This record gives sequence, C-alpha cells and structure tokens, in this order.
Amino acid sequence: SILPSTTTDIPQEALPYQDPSLTTAERVADLLGRMTVEEKVGQMLQLDARDDLRDHVLRRHVGSILHTSPERILEANRLTAQTRLRIPLLVGEDCIHGHSFWPGATIYPTQLGMAATWDAELIERVARASAEEVAVTGVHWTFSPVLCIARDLRWGRVGETFGEDPFLIGELASAMVRGYQGDGLDDPTAILATAKHFAGYSETQGGRDASEADISRRKLRSWFLPPFERVAREGCRTFMLGYQSTDGVPITVNDWLLSEVLRGEWGYTGTLITDWDNVGRMVWEQKVQPDYAHAAAAAVKAGNDMVMTTPRFYEGALEAVERGMLAEDAFDAAVARILTLKFDLGLFEDPRLPSPDLDTVVGSAAHAELNLEVARRSIVLLENDGTLPLAASSPVRVAVVGPLADDAQTQLGDWAGGSGQAGWLDGQPREMITTVLDGLRGIDGWTVRHARGADILTLEQDPRGATFPDGQPRHPVVVPSLPDDRLIEEAVAAAEASDVVVAVVGDRIELVGEGRSTATLELIGGQVALLDAVIATGKPVIVVLLASKPLVLPPSVARAAAVLWAANPGMKGGQALAEIIAGRAEPSGRLPISFARHAGQQPTYYNQLRGQHGDRYADLTQSPAWAFGEGLSYTTVSYSDLTLAATSLGTGDEIEAAVTVTNTGSRPVRETVQVYVRDQVTSVSWADKELKGYRQVDLAPGESARVRLTLPVADCTIVDAAGERLVEAGAFELLVGPSSRDEVLLAAGFEVR
Ligand code: BGC
Repeated sequence: SILPSTTTDIPQEALPYQDPSLTTAERVADLLGRMTVEEKVGQMLQLDARDDLRDHVLRRHVGSILHTSPERILEANRLTAQTRLRIPLLVGEDCIHGHSFWPGATIYPTQLGMAATWDAELIERVARASAEEVAVTGVHWTFSPVLCIARDLRWGRVGETFGEDPFLIGELASAMVRGYQGDGLDDPTAILATAKHFAGYSETQGGRDASEADISRRKLRSWFLPPFERVAREGCRTFMLGYQSTDGVPITVNDWLLSEVLRGEWGYTGTLITDWDNVGRMVWEQKVQPDYAHAAAAAVKAGNDMVMTTPRFYEGALEAVERGMLAEDAFDAAVARILTLKFDLGLFEDPRLPSPDLDTVVGSAAHAELNLEVARRSIVLLENDGTLPLAASSPVRVAVVGPLADDAQTQLGDWAGGSGQAGWLDGQPREMITTVLDGLRGIDGWTVRHARGADILTLEQDPRGATFPDGQPRHPVVVPSLPDDRLIEEAVAAAEASDVVVAVVGDRIELVGEGRSTATLELIGGQVALLDAVIATGKPVIVVLLASKPLVLPPSVARAAAVLWAANPGMKGGQALAEIIAGRAEPSGRLPISFARHAGQQPTYYNQLRGQHGDRYADLTQSPAWAFGEGLSYTTVSYSDLTLAATSLGTGDEIEAAVTVTNTGSRPVRETVQVYVRDQVTSVSWADKELKGYRQVDLAPGESARVRLTLPVADCTIVDAAGERLVEAGAFELLVGPSSRDEVLLAAGFEVR
C-alpha cells in the first residue's frame, strides 16, 4: 500500500537527521528511529530503474536504483521529493571500464586489458577519471572492480577480471578502489567502489557461468580471498556477492564468509549488496527456499544490506515479520549501513543530480589522452619475427583484413554502449572510436586496402523462448558462420597487392559475458580459414587478436610474422595498435593471464599445485602457448647478477635483492621485472612459485640498471592444512625475470629461520 506520503507530513523546522552539523552516526540513529518497517525493508532494495519508478519509490520505498538512463535519474529524484522522509536514492551503475552506458563517455580497455599494463598508478588514474565522469552524471556507485581470479578460460567473464594472479589482482584492484573513492566521499567526484563478486564465483565447472563453486575453505583462503581481504582492509565501501553456491550454500546466505570472515576476521564495516536477484534465485532457480518470506528472512539473517533487483523481497520480508520469522528490528543494521553511505556522500544536502555542465567532463579531451596511454600500455606483443615495427616513414602497402578490423563497438567489449546490457543506447558515438583500420589509415604515406575476409557468427532465437522463467532475456544461440570463398578471395587479393597484412580476428560480444561462456577457445566462424589463406600467400602477416580473453590460434599462425593481443582495448585501441605496428609506440604489455594451446588444457594458470604426474597430456604438452607475465618488446633485455643482501632471514626481516637489467637492443623499453617466490618444502601442497612483487623500469638502448627489489619475509606465506596463513621456516628461492617461465628466471636461495 502507498503510505500517506505527502510533503505536508514534514514539519517546517529541520529534523535532526536533516542537520548536517550532526555526525553521520547521530543522523542515522535519528532517521532510523522515524522509519516504519515498510520504509526499512524498502531501503534495503535496489531496483531496476527501467521498470516502474513510481511503484519502486512510492510503494516499495526503494533505497537505490540501478541502470538509470540519463532521463530516469531526474525522474527518480522528483519522486523521492514526494516521499515522507525524503530519503535520497543511491544511484548505482556498472561503470566497468569507463561510464559504460552513458552516451559519449570515455570507454577504456576492459579490466583484463588494463591488467596487461601491470601499472597500478595508471589504473588508479583511469578509475579517477571514470569517477569524475560518473559522478557528474548523478551516479554515486559503480559495481567495479572485479576481483575474481580467472580460472577456466571458457568462462564468459574472464575479460572482466584482472587475470589469474591474486597478488596482481590485489595491486590493481586496490588502485582502482582508490581511484573511484578518491580522497573521501565528501569529495563531489568520489563514487562508491564495489569489490565483486565475493567470493569464488570464478571457480566454475567447465567454465559454465554461475555453476557450483566446488571450493574448500583452504582454497578460498589460499587464492580467492586475499585480494578481497586487501580492499576490505583498505576501505572499499561496498562488496557485491557472486552467483555461486559452495558446499550447497548460496553465497547470499553463507554465514561463514559473510559474518565470520568478512565482518569478523577482516573487521569489514562496509555495505554488502547481493548480485542480481540472488534472493529470488534461492526460490525459483536454486530451489533452496520455499518462498520469498523464507528467502528474505534468510538473506537478512545472513547480514545482507542491499538486495539487488528482487522486488518481491519487499513483500517477502514484511510477510516474514508478520509470521514471526524476523523481528521488526531485524533490518536496522542493514538500513543503518545504507543510510551511512548516503550521509557520508552528503546526499541529504545535495542529491548529486546530473550536473548542467557535465559535457565538459564526460568524454573530455584529457580523458581521451589518458585512454590512449592506457590502450598503448595494454597491448601485448606475443610473437615477432622482426617484421615489427614497420617503418612509419616508408611508404608501406598494408592489407587490413578480418571481421574486427573496423568493428567499432566490438572493440569496446562487454559493459559498453553496444554490449546490450542497457537498453537505452546501441553503442558509443562512432566518431569517438578509432578502429584498427582507422588507425592504420591515419599513418601518412601508407596505402591501406581493406577486406573483411570472414564473418564470425549469426544468431538464432533459442528454441526454448526469448526469456528465462524470471523474465530476464535469454541469449540467442550463436551459429558460427561458414568460411566464405568470395570474402577470402578479396582478402587474399588485398594481401597480394600489399607488402604486409594486418589480420584482425577475435571474439564478439555474443561470445562474451554473463551466461556466454564458450565451449571452445578457437576462433569462431570463417576466421581460421581466413588466417590460413592470407598466411599461405607468403606475405608477412601480423595477427591482431582482438579478444576479450585468451583464445587459441590455429596452427598456421606459427608462420605469421607477429602476434599482438589487445583485450577489448577501448575507444583508442585502433590508434594504439597502429602506433605500435608503425613503431611510434613501444609494446610493453605483459600477460596477466596464460594462453592455452587447446581448450582441453584448462586450467592453464601458472601457479598450480605441485605434485601432478608429469607435465603433459599423452597428446599435448600442458605448457601454455604464452605464459603469465610474458610479452615482448621491440628490443631485447638481459637479466644478470641477482644478489641478496642476506640469505638467512627472520620472519620480521625484509628480503633485499638486486638484479642487473640491461637493454641489449636498439629501441627503448619499459621492462616489467617480476619477482616470484618458491617455498622449497611446504607442510601441505602449494604452488611451485608465486608472484610477490614487480617493478617497471624504463631503459634506453644499451642502458643498464641495477634494480633493487625488497619484499617482507612475512609475505612468503602458505596456507596450512588448518587454513592458517603463515610463513614456514626453511629453504626458499627468490626468482627474478621477465615472466613466470622457469627458463627465464634467475634464482637466489635464502633461508627463513
Ligand atoms: C552481474 C554483476 C553486475 C550486476 C548489475 C549481475 O548480473 O553479475 O557483475 O554488477 O548484474 O548489473
């Protein structure tokens, strides 16, 4: 029922909660004391702003909305002005790599692309710039970053991660949270960050989205939890739960993870939000709750604060109170946390509506410049027979082929204007995006011929219907395109008339994201036939893999001149790739994730447990095609003289090491010096080595530097059989080099007493 909610209920003089001179705690206590149980339950809800906003605000007393088009933000605020207590709304959105769904916003490389920079400071700047664009449009909260660890590459959400290493994820996620939240929530450009998806969602079965995460507590503590613990302790204001169940328990009601670990051990005082309809899913999908009253009661008791898009949580929770399953004050802690965010953001004084001069911030030239910088840094050179860089100054004839050479929206990837997650825009403005074709055409003096050469896929409606039982859209079925002889002939003709071929292949949005895991990692459709044909011409072929995640390239690529990977490189991706191909920028990206040779090799992450029998399948090696940490430069680099200041250390000491890194080639380099630790004997099985640090150094041709590396012995931990993280005394090795491959790492032994 609609409460008597007219503005005349509000007395003239300000109530204590409306008084900004009081502390947040005082204001929360006052407001909470005035709220009805209906208002409290509604405050815990975050609903889809594309639905009936009047109903959300006036009948369900909603506390937050998401997926708010520019127009709907203002409408929602007009509605809250009519409510009894005029509690402002928190506006949330998936601003994942830029302000994803805001027309004209700057769209950066995806998280996996950004991770290839290995540059926390740069990623912090991207998050800061994103926050500026997001905040000025009236959005207060982004559901970013993702701290899931990439495991099975078939999973559709691999591109949303920072890759496969917990340490690197922690570094980059922490930077992103700092960037979003800025100097504090009273800064008008600060937005709330969300660490998601807590925890273990990426441990899929066969790469299938939201499958049971079959994962022990020890395994969680070993790899999955550390990045979350780090940002929890550093003050990330919100955490989003995933879709997974573990040991049969949906994360939404996982008391151990939510209460004991997150709020207990880590002392987290921030706000929890469920994932999309997680409370409802317990009823209609997982079938572990008989009805919405039980589901709501269980979710509240487990300590959830905000319930995303389960409208029936409202009726369910009230029914649970009526039936005595929940006490009337059961919502107070959650509501207090939500109100705290609103007071800390200052929303009662200024609801942070879209600013009239937002166009000076959104998609600004400064952000485009930053975007170009991060795009350049995100590109990884995987192979090069010396063909690259091409000489920008000579008149090169380039054949640009492949279905992704000029596909502007696909280049942006998931969570972007054209990705389909928001209904109010089809894509970002074409003129803001430089495709690879645009980029290469921009190199003066080059002759560019273009032929698409292949199609990737067509779509058919799923025979089971266009929607799931909850009304959510069901993805259409992907039908791979067949190789098309005419398209291939055009590409071959372009290749034959040129000096060099740039073949841009990869995946499309229909093969990426939630519910879109792939059974194969191979290039879909006519792309393999296209590569085979252009490589068979004998012309040097530069393969540009524009793919959300590591894919498997066909055998013919062994004869290609070069391979570059750009994981959805954002609006400036084509320009950055062209600059690298033409030698105007140096490639410096390093893999944050390993590439498989075959989908059947899954998983391929580098930090696997010791003790497997052998290192190959009967029919294939287990070694990845390209390993974590790898990436080439246009020069060569040598590592020598790894030394340790002391080799017998206590657990409170620092490991002090130094290594000489020399640019032995003729081009400048930004080298990522990687530091791994090997614990020689552990009380329980453990990874053979783990990344513990890295440093990026710039070296001119011929330049040499003595790079100092320090690492607390306290970081050389394992998780023992009881689930305790600790340093075990004994022999260790410090491994330093350009990637995770044993062959390229220098080793120095030390002893922990
Ligand atoms: C995704 C989240 C996302 C949320 C809101 C969910 O389906 O798993 O990552 O933030 O939807 O769009």
